[in-house]
Amino acid sequence: MARKFFVGGNFKMNGTKESIKSIIENLNKASLDPNVEVVIAPPALYLQLARDTVDKASGVEVAAQNVYHKPNGAYTGEISVAQLKDSDIHWTILGHSERRTLLGETDELVASKTKAAVEGGVSVIWCCGESLEEREAGNTVAVVERQLAALAAKLSAADWKKIVIAYEPIWAIGTGKVATVQQAQEVHEAIRKWLRTQFGDAVADETRILYGGSVNGKNCKDLAKEKDIDGFLVGGASLKPEFVDIINSNQ
Ligand code: PGA
Repeated sequence: MARKFFVGGNFKMNGTKESIKSIIENLNKASLDPNVEVVIAPPALYLQLARDTVDKASGVEVAAQNVYHKPNGAYTGEISVAQLKDSDIHWTILGHSERRTLLGETDELVASKTKAAVEGGVSVIWCCGESLEEREAGNTVAVVERQLAALAAKLSAADWKKIVIAYEPIWAIGTGKVATVQQAQEVHEAIRKWLRTQFGDAVADETRILYGGSVNGKNCKDLAKEKDIDGFLVGGASLKPEFVDIINSNQ
């Protein structure tokens, strides 16, 4: 079955009111492939601005970069799933390697957050990926399967309808060192195989698996051709005009 191509833009901790507005106004004007689902993730402070600036007719959605799994209460600095929905935000990134490594998020915490988001009606771009050390030790697939297993322990097959997986090898993020098409396809294939074994054909065939890590306007076309690469999660290049070329890379 055909999976709709998906391109996410992860702005990370970048931008100002002015620059974010201008990035979005450029997207509003651009001619975007209608067969692509586009979701942009600005810093939390600018979610509302992004929501208000995106032309609804463009179909572009806005995502948070994180959400907490508790419904409300004494969790200083956190944002709840209900608060996202209240602000008309229907997507969040979770488990990004920067949060796993810099902020100590465990596989279990990421899984709890993912479950809470999905149950609350917010879709998730769920990230996984290995470090350079883990790749060199030949543990890439084992690491990704460990991250997936923690998630799977909390999910039912129906939950996958609200999840997009982003495979992002840590050594390729922000480094300019993109995984080769073969390296990416190999891991995507392994992830799909794992989904098939754990959750059956429908989940395996319908879940989008994105590649992330130094995707740019030049390397996106070749990656997009691979059968198990269903789109991208883009960091640095999502702040630049070439983001439109990445969105349109599957044409
Ligand atoms: P990058 O980041 O495209 O800047 O490598 C990707 C990501 O971290 O999602």
